[in-house]
Amino acid sequence: MQAPISEIFSSIQGEGKYVGCRQLFIRFVGCNLKCRYCDTESLLNTTHCDCEGKGLINNPVDFAEILPYLEKRLKKKHHSISLTGGEPLLHTDFINEIGQKIDCPLFLETNGTLCEQLQKVINNIDIISMDIKMPDAVGENLWEKHKKFLQIAAKKDVYVKIVIAQETKLDDFTKAIDLIESFNKNLLLILQPMTPYGGYTAPSPEKILIWQSLALEKINDVRVIGQTHRMIGQR
Ligand code: SF4
Repeated sequence: MQAPISEIFSSIQGEGKYVGCRQLFIRFVGCNLKCRYCDTESLLNTTHCDCEGKGLINNPVDFAEILPYLEKRLKKKHHSISLTGGEPLLHTDFINEIGQKIDCPLFLETNGTLCEQLQKVINNIDIISMDIKMPDAVGENLWEKHKKFLQIAAKKDVYVKIVIAQETKLDDFTKAIDLIESFNKNLLLILQPMTPYGGYTAPSPEKILIWQSLALEKINDVRVIGQTHRMIGQR
């Protein structure tokens, strides 16, 4: 079983509900979207996987070859394995292999659009951090895909995340809030202020406060959490 992976490393989850937890990150190569603010673009086309503490290995990575390395890394206590990217759901067979062979909770960081692929791995996933993408960032309307994705993800510990820039449109934000409310108003929503990138700027402090209040009119738990790993010098 093989998949292209850009890096494997142990670090601190810097975003969302499980911020601060120690995780082993597996960053898969490739994505089905092209967000204007993507900060991992340079990592998505690599011919080698940088395995922390082991060095470079060729892509695609063979699961059997890295299994002993993963097991060794996990001897030090980790909260979970973060499957990140890119979009990890492009590699469902590899994810199922990890889930079946490694005894550690799997935390899926996903753009929330690949419903059939989620269905294939859902039994092996424990936690899902799902993005809701604003149309102006991805150049298309993904509301229906997000809705279907949530229905499958709801079987697990799932929360949703919206990246807010100063440029994000109120109309799109309102649609996202309505989508979450129509699904489950108790679903945790993380508002993540944009780290300036790709022509997007950070939202003003006033905007964040106003939009959190707007969201709280319809959703019960709305938290504002930035990319804390960047503040403390972690990758
Ligand atoms: S979904 Fe994530 S990895 Fe894919 S293009 Fe957007 S920001 Fe980059």
